[in-house]
Amino acid sequence: MEKYDIVIGLEIHAELNTATKLFCSCKNDTAAEPNANVCPYCMSLPGAFPRPNRVAIEKAILAGMAFDCKINEQTFFERKHYFYPDLPAGYQITQLDQPQCLGGHIMLKSGKKIRLNRIHLEEDAGKLNHNEVLGETLVDLNRAGVPLLEMVTEPDISTAQEAVEFLEEVRSRFVFSGTANCRMEEGGMRCDVNISLKPKGRKEFGARVEMKNLNSFRSVARAIEYESTRHAKLLDDGKKIDMETRKWNDGKGISTSMRGKEGVLDYMHYNDHDQYPIRVTEDDIAQLRATLPKLAHEYRKEFTESLGLPEYDTEILTREKSICTFFLLSIDLIPEPKKIANWILTDVLARCTNYEIRITAEQFTKIIKMVDARKITKTNALELMDKIWDNPKADPEKIAKEMGIIGGVTEKDIASIVTELISANAQAVTDYTSTPDKVLNFFMGQLMKRTQGKADSVIAREIIIKLLVGKDNV
Ligand SMILES: [Zn+2]
Repeated sequence: MEKYDIVIGLEIHAELNTATKLFCSCKNDTAAEPNANVCPYCMSLPGAFPRPNRVAIEKAILAGMAFDCKINEQTFFERKHYFYPDLPAGYQITQLDQPQCLGGHIMLKSGKKIRLNRIHLEEDAGKLNHNEVLGETLVDLNRAGVPLLEMVTEPDISTAQEAVEFLEEVRSRFVFSGTANCRMEEGGMRCDVNISLKPKGRKEFGARVEMKNLNSFRSVARAIEYESTRHAKLLDDGKKIDMETRKWNDGKGISTSMRGKEGVLDYMHYNDHDQYPIRVTEDDIAQLRATLPKLAHEYRKEFTESLGLPEYDTEILTREKSICTFFLLSIDLIPEPKKIANWILTDVLARCTNYEIRITAEQFTKIIKMVDARKITKTNALELMDKIWDNPKADPEKIAKEMGIIGGVTEKDIASIVTELISANAQAVTDYTSTPDKVLNFFMGQLMKRTQGKADSVIAREIIIKLLVGKDNV
């Protein structure tokens, strides 16, 4: 492998999160009952005409801005013809000649620039549901006509790691810009990989293979590793690499040929004569640019430079938009970023599945305030958090009262109980010098029993040691 340079380009599809489809007013909801969101247009019935969705075009432009693309002021839609049962019209409407967004780039952490060729807008096809048991295939057209972004990169990626870092950043920018939700497990973001190998230092590219069906970042990495090893082996043996499209089988960890060069499709692109060109003015673009939300990399910079958070914290806080938003709302309520970050990184994230925070920033900060005021212990605070998780209306103070965890066990109370315990257990006090841990645990146990676990364990520990050491000194 050291003998070769790997050349990788990616094609990424992301479904826009508009309310309706690209050319009709059907709901953009692919998870609904099959064929619940269809109309004569997206079923391609004769006589139905497309009506472009302004929001989809605006979101495509915003997405382009998130990658510093040049925004084309005029575009038009074209028909790309091919036959497949999930495409009732026999063609897909896309932008070939004049994509909505041109160029753009992402910088990897290493400082390497990955250039984009384009981002264009097109409609998604339907979905085939294969039923192995019945041996039937059913067509679901909920997805037909859903607005889709296609991003094409230049062949600037050289390793599986770079591909994954790039994809993570792409996903983050789509999500933070509010244009696409990119739920990969639901097919909301898909990726094809173009890969070729060439002897190190040579300019001309080798024969290129396109790999399809990659639906997780992990499978992209595995497919790149597998395919580059396969190419290197063929080249080492002096064999020729066929230019072809291959399908990645994630279960088996191998790629298999889908269609060879002779199977390259002639898509016969024609203008879609049912539609006018789309024009956006400089003013439109400026107005949209003003609405582009802050992106994760901008938050990272801000959290490090203005809030003084360590890199590790900012990485995690900006990994998902839900976490970032929760953090921002929480520091509005308690302006102590490091303290809030610590609570989120340890106690909130430990309770999340897929980064879904099921507690409001108001509830969360109320709990922290109760701990700070020593009304409840940290241990009880976590129990309280579990109790109101998933219940956004619950008032933490009220629930804490119901749970009987509001202690009112002050430092003074702890000190007086510990003083009593010390005078009642002379032997234990004597043993403190030889077996400090054992004695400490004994007093902690007694104290918790007397306070029904409501004493703050950290404070209690400090007080016990202080009073025991005081005794020793006497
Ligand atoms: Zn429709």
